Amino acid sequence: MVKQVTTLAKRTPERAFLCEVSNAALQQSLNDLRTARNNFFASLSGKRKGRRVGAPRFKSKHGRQSARFARNGFKLRRNGRLYLAKIGDLRVRWSLKDPAGRSIRLPAEPSSVTIIRKASGKFFVSFCYTTEDDDTLPPTPRDTGIDLGLKDFAVLRDGNAVPNPRFYGKGEVKLARLQRKFARAKKGSRRREAQRVKVARWHERIANQRDDFLEQLSTRVVRDNQAVVVEDLAVLGLSRGRAAKSVQDASWGSFLRLLESKCDRYGRDYVSIDRWFPSTQLCSSCGAVTGPKGQRGLRIRSWSCPCGVTHERDRNAEINIRREGRRILAERQETMSKKLAEGRSSADRGVKPESADKRSLRDGTGG
Ligand SMILES: [Zn+2]
Repeated sequence: MVKQVTTLAKRTPERAFLCEVSNAALQQSLNDLRTARNNFFASLSGKRKGRRVGAPRFKSKHGRQSARFARNGFKLRRNGRLYLAKIGDLRVRWSLKDPAGRSIRLPAEPSSVTIIRKASGKFFVSFCYTTEDDDTLPPTPRDTGIDLGLKDFAVLRDGNAVPNPRFYGKGEVKLARLQRKFARAKKGSRRREAQRVKVARWHERIANQRDDFLEQLSTRVVRDNQAVVVEDLAVLGLSRGRAAKSVQDASWGSFLRLLESKCDRYGRDYVSIDRWFPSTQLCSSCGAVTGPKGQRGLRIRSWSCPCGVTHERDRNAEINIRREGRRILAERQETMSKKLAEGRSSADRGVKPESADKRSLRDGTGG
């Protein structure tokens, strides 16, 4: 199979372009395909846990491009350049900083490197390496729930609201103008290509601003809290209406993924609560289900419970989410200590510490 899709394929005129790149990159593609296919079938048969994995897709020669080089396909030069098989030495603008803010190259020997060309034409290289660092942060007694929403992106403990930055909304007018110009340009013309790059750059700009915002917010939340409690993402679609859905969904999803991985890395507790938990409807004072319900309740920002307390919607939801999280954590700890006690009584088995974790980082070369 390897020979058929590499060596033999190169002899056909349609796929002669395969000769232009290193064999290492082609083989890596095949390895990736095998992994993707195995994951897909394992996911279908239920052997693989977690999120559903889709079928592998063909790579396109348009838009974002990437190639991965394993150990034998690249070398790091002393002078900071990166050698890639069949491409040669590349100048890299290293962007990693150590905790003191000094520029460094890589903290460990990389096992693979991926080179990416964005739709805008900018190049990036991403290294994969393993470290033994223990990043666990000192414990804090503080915890927080997070109520995600449209008006405020997130409401944290004590009604601490993080306004929705709406990067997309702000850039939309300009984006629409760029896209109109692109659509009017003659197909295949140089002007059209220039216009395409402008649109792609604008998209990347918005995405970068959004990613930066999500990274900073998630880091702050994880640093300040020992436990972070969130609602299952499935619940958000149901309870927050249709407005700006696709864009907002993407941000919520990435935010929760960032939170979870950072909690894992820094030794914090991440709790995702059940999709049926009525976080907005519960009165956080008396525990009755008296809050706004359904589609019509979406606009109600504050409400009064018959018990006499007036609630601000998001703040009340955060309290409920945090409480439910504490309950789940207590339950987890109980089963953990039970298991530990059982283990101790049956045999003297050591607990294996988890140490190495895989991380990848991104460095930019000039665009
Ligand atoms: Zn009440």
